[in-house]
Amino acid sequence: MRKRKSITTCSARSSKKIKGRSASETGRRSGAPCASDPARRPGGALFARISTSLLRWFRSCGRGMEWRETTDPYRIWVSEIMLQQTRVETVAPYYSRFIARFPDIASLAGAAPDDVLSLWEGLGYYARARNLHRGARIVRERHGGMLPSTVEELMRLPGVGRSTAGAIAAIAFGRDEPILDANARRVVARLFGVRGDLRSTATERTLWEYSALLVRKGTGRDTALAVMDLGAVLCIPKSPRCSECPVSACCESFARGLQGEIPPRRFRKAVPHHDIVAALFRRDDGWYYFRRRPPEGLLGGLWAFPSGRRLPGESPEAALRRATREKLGVGIAIQRNMGTVKHAYSHYRITMHGFLCSAKGNGLPSDGDSAWLRPGTPGGRGLPRADRKLLERILEEEGADGS
Ligand code: SF4
Repeated sequence: MRKRKSITTCSARSSKKIKGRSASETGRRSGAPCASDPARRPGGALFARISTSLLRWFRSCGRGMEWRETTDPYRIWVSEIMLQQTRVETVAPYYSRFIARFPDIASLAGAAPDDVLSLWEGLGYYARARNLHRGARIVRERHGGMLPSTVEELMRLPGVGRSTAGAIAAIAFGRDEPILDANARRVVARLFGVRGDLRSTATERTLWEYSALLVRKGTGRDTALAVMDLGAVLCIPKSPRCSECPVSACCESFARGLQGEIPPRRFRKAVPHHDIVAALFRRDDGWYYFRRRPPEGLLGGLWAFPSGRRLPGESPEAALRRATREKLGVGIAIQRNMGTVKHAYSHYRITMHGFLCSAKGNGLPSDGDSAWLRPGTPGGRGLPRADRKLLERILEEEGADGS
């Protein structure tokens, strides 16, 4: 594990210089790298200064993580996929468990989808797990089990976009490739004073150009990690810690007080809320009936109680009768309310109402997408968090009742 030292910066020694710097030194003009400005040309003095300060800081202050202790491209690929839209602290235990279970491409490629999804349970964005699994099979079949090393080839794997491909190529293979994940986007935009919507095509092109210019020959790995760390530790979204920043002397936003404006604030849409009703069918032995969700889409491939959305004006009981008729083709008798749980997924929030039910007529469908699971150990199947919470609630109550 890399040892953290106190953060060293060049900001203190440079703070006096900022006022007197010329436009070319500060990179005062926004927009793309400019051929008429020597400091901002590829290989210009500005980029060299930033790179030197950034790498020096990273080598003494870079964060230690389990996946940074390996050079195994497979493990670096797994970590980069898990880190998409997810914080390092959240990823850490999932990464350890995943690598312990699937230590190499062969073991992941040969795994059953349920085994992969069950290890991903709670990490969210389940398409990542499905893509990683598919990707491992592609690597086994098309690349002889060896992860390809170029950005172009990596981008052909499912779930690997340009920034993830750049990160893998740089970190795993030492290639001099830029990255532009959320942290890098913010760092680069602030450093060079790039305004506007950072996700617009034109702005993104500019950011990629700047990001590439930060990568000096032979420094791809460390530059990628340094930019990630700077964005995570100092150049954070709110109240960046500029006084501790190693590149503040070269930062356009710091010089002009634009940190609060770059990137522009995005107005978040209201997160929708859905009322969900869930049918809990329990066998005499205490096992519950689950259905596998369709393979694609949110929570795809996970196992869940049969459920449906309550429509406006509909009672929970009426909604449940309708949902089970539509999805299972059965009529039901509702025995009792088993409680309510709330959960916030990435794109919506739900309140789930569980009802103990029994099926009328021919009973419940029994096919490859149905299973009876024991509540405490649902046999290596991944469950959505809300269903897991409801199951835990039921178990607690059953324990308290002694039933
Ligand atoms: S905004 Fe502040 S923390 Fe971010 S790069 Fe500039 S000086 Fe560093």
